Amino acid sequence: MQVTRALFDEVMVPNYAPSSVIPVKGQGSRVWDQNGKEFIDFAGGIAVNCLGHCHPVLVKALQDQSEKLWHLSNVMTNEPALRLAKKLTDATFAEKVYFANSGAESNEAALKLARRYALEVFGAEKTHIIAFNKGFHGRTFFTVTVGGQAAYSDGFGPKPADIQHCNYNDLAAFEALISDKTCAVMMEPLQGEGGIISPTAEFVQAVRALCDKHNALLIFDEVQTGVGRTGHLYAYQGLGVTPDILTTAKALGGGFPIGAMLTTTAIAAHLKVGTHGSTYGGNPLACAVAEAAFDVVNTPDVLNGVKEREQLFREGLTAINEKYNVFSEVRGEGLLLGAVLNADFAGRSRDFLLASADHGLMSLVAGTDVVRFAPSLIIPKEDIVEGLARFEKAVSQVVNG
Ligand SMILES: *Cc1c(COP(=O)(O)O)cnc(C)c1O
Repeated sequence: MQVTRALFDEVMVPNYAPSSVIPVKGQGSRVWDQNGKEFIDFAGGIAVNCLGHCHPVLVKALQDQSEKLWHLSNVMTNEPALRLAKKLTDATFAEKVYFANSGAESNEAALKLARRYALEVFGAEKTHIIAFNKGFHGRTFFTVTVGGQAAYSDGFGPKPADIQHCNYNDLAAFEALISDKTCAVMMEPLQGEGGIISPTAEFVQAVRALCDKHNALLIFDEVQTGVGRTGHLYAYQGLGVTPDILTTAKALGGGFPIGAMLTTTAIAAHLKVGTHGSTYGGNPLACAVAEAAFDVVNTPDVLNGVKEREQLFREGLTAINEKYNVFSEVRGEGLLLGAVLNADFAGRSRDFLLASADHGLMSLVAGTDVVRFAPSLIIPKEDIVEGLARFEKAVSQVVNG
């Protein structure tokens, strides 16, 4: 069968507008399309491929598990799931793990748990959930409503109730919203999709303190920031603020779909038998790959390497900006970086993404004003140099029309 981009329009629901490029093979941080054109991958499948493409350790884990056991459902548990859960709890504040298959599902579990916890411990009035404008938490109806972009949640009829929003880093607005009716606060410890926006230390600390004061659970959505992305295993560990519930997905499986919700024993106790579940959650294939990825990422070598690579990106982007004057700043942490377009190029992030693809570079955007980079955490330094050289050509193309 001839597979072309035109086939997409013929057979796929039109909710995506994929690039004209159809990649067929990847190795490390290089990808090749149907025509053999090579790309350097600064996108990482949207912060998912934390060890690049086809990392030998992940390939082996997948192959080995594929010959043992693929699926059981949660009527029975399995060894890879329990090993991964043990490693996640050993490495974080958490004592209990719930496995899901995506970021949205992990957040859905977190929100349902928070509501159930508040109902059982404090009563039926404690239902309010506070989240932040520009936040992103997934596309199920609950998570998209908690997310801070009405454009994504409007148009589907009545929304889940009692969800409130205020601006990220606006402590006064947050303080005005939180009350004893607040059951949970959901936030990204660095807003990803919303534009690569870090919280101030003062803000996260105050959010934690106000959650404590009002007996509200603090949920950190680390779907994008988790598993080494910021140079910490989880971003909360660099912020010095510990959540009550943490969600992780994207990089967790290094490219194999998996998500997880992490919490304490006391809170977890409220998801009793039968209250929530998933057919695939904790699937042995997914957990075996995630365990292998976790073992590689959770080492000083890889985590420190993220910081070194961040430095290379920052220096390279600064040098490009000195020549072309297109960015107002480069922000973010670790290998979750955003080059913010200045007023002259505002609204044109997609032009930079398309020009990059022309020159053999896969990049991302975060809104219309930010070019985002989320490459493999172990991207070879020469690929960073080569990718930035290609990005410079793309910038030149956009600037010179
Ligand atoms: C990507 C993302 C999600 C959604 O994850 P899916 O796997 O697409 O459901 C949720 N939260 C954050 C912070 C994300 O970046």
